[in-house]
Amino acid sequence: MTDRPMLIAGEHVTAASGQWIDSEDPATEQVIGRVPAGGAPEVERAVAAARAAADGWRRTAANDRAELLHEAVTRSLAINDELVELLTREQGKARPENAEEAEWALTSLRYYAELARNGLGRVVPSAEPDNQLNLVLKEPYGVIGAIVPWNFPLLLLSWKLAPALAAGNTVVIKPSELTSLVTLEWIERCFDHFPTGVINVVTGTGQEAGEALVAHPDVQVIAMTGSVQTGQRIASVAAPMMKHLHLELGGKDAFVVGPDAELESAADALAYAALFNAGQVCTSSERIYVPTARRDDFAEAVRAKVATLRLGPGLSSDTDIGPMAADRFRDKVDDHIREAVDRGARVVIGDGRPDRTGFFYEPTVLVDVDDAMLIMRDETFGPVIPIATYDDVDEVIDRVNVHPMGLGACLRSSDPLLIKRFYERVKAGTIWINDPLTDNYAGPFGGMKLTGGGRELGPEGLETFLETKHVHWDFSQEPKDWWYPY
Ligand code: NAD
Repeated sequence: MTDRPMLIAGEHVTAASGQWIDSEDPATEQVIGRVPAGGAPEVERAVAAARAAADGWRRTAANDRAELLHEAVTRSLAINDELVELLTREQGKARPENAEEAEWALTSLRYYAELARNGLGRVVPSAEPDNQLNLVLKEPYGVIGAIVPWNFPLLLLSWKLAPALAAGNTVVIKPSELTSLVTLEWIERCFDHFPTGVINVVTGTGQEAGEALVAHPDVQVIAMTGSVQTGQRIASVAAPMMKHLHLELGGKDAFVVGPDAELESAADALAYAALFNAGQVCTSSERIYVPTARRDDFAEAVRAKVATLRLGPGLSSDTDIGPMAADRFRDKVDDHIREAVDRGARVVIGDGRPDRTGFFYEPTVLVDVDDAMLIMRDETFGPVIPIATYDDVDEVIDRVNVHPMGLGACLRSSDPLLIKRFYERVKAGTIWINDPLTDNYAGPFGGMKLTGGGRELGPEGLETFLETKHVHWDFSQEPKDWWYPY
């Protein structure tokens, strides 16, 4: 077990409170390390360090910033196996999924290192073209607070850290309490060539460390991924200061099996979309709609697929689905399944918590589900596949849209008319046709409605960390004829 201090201005720092937070391996239930339970004093120190570094960093050439990000990639690759192992031990999901997470995080660093060199400002035509210049500048804000969840701790950090740094901002990171060890490991070993104070990590709970960061007057932007409730709380704390908020919140994504869909491959796609990371993905498919006439065949295809999946510790080579990240997350899954069954749903496969050490939960498929059930309304964030039926494609699109969240939506079909109707009418930030959950780093990711409206990835993900300024420059000091008196 290791005690891992936080990182402020390149120094190891423990909490003034003297308190620590345990980090548990969800597959073994063993404590594998501790991080300090930081709060307002540590946030104060970290923001001061980030502020002191901000001017030098914004004046560093974009090319030099890019080189430092590329160097972080090189350093990460050199310790990739260690990072992936620690990520697996602390977060829980199967090792191949963590290897992908680490790889995708580096793609983010590479992409933004290069994109930010292009510059984003523009020159607009002036009212007096010979005498005037009108410039639209895109400038770094200053200090960014990056608040990160536990389900993809390196990936979702990289989506904030890379564009924020590349744009010339300094950063204070608040990782999740559940995944602080791997965050500290990555930042300490792969980013310590950045100038002092440019990157800082404050560990602690959301209520103590997170909220102190949101409330700090010198933090101009809060970029946060997490639940809707936390996003709402952050928005209310930040509102009086008019902070720029970049919120990536929860989802309740629909997966629609088109009337023409091939069922076996749809079942394979759905198993991945619903069970990746034990269903703990913001874009997990959590509401499944299949034509009524095809319900039984589809449910059987999904059952057969799920029956092949192997539950086990993330580090075992024969594991498909790891444990859930914390014990308490299983309670919500239990509640949702129990309520659905009480209201008439039927379990096709899955038997709750297996009798073994670790926070495992058997992947579960339900039929006879309706939209009024909790399992179709509230984010479950677990390995459950609730299958409902529909009779008409316009009806199902309306049902997809009725939900207050709007992160993503999936459709399996080869019917161009249906596909176009679906992507035009569904209110969600990403529409996946046939290939669920695949991101393209050059395209934006984020949600609509209660999901928050922030966009990461693509040029949009860089713009988030740049403030717009308009410069109107007249070369002459001659008075204008419209100045007083009228
Ligand atoms: P969470 O909201 O509990 O925590 C997220 C982060 O916010 C953590 O670092 C936490 O410590 C911090 N936090 C909590 N309370 C805070 C407060 N009052 N002030 C400041 N910070 C605070 O979410 P989680 O359980 O870590 O992650 C799961 C949630 O994240 C799910 O709802 C999931 O859908 C969502 N998520 C969304 C996306 C997306 O891109 N839209 C991606 C991944 C996860």
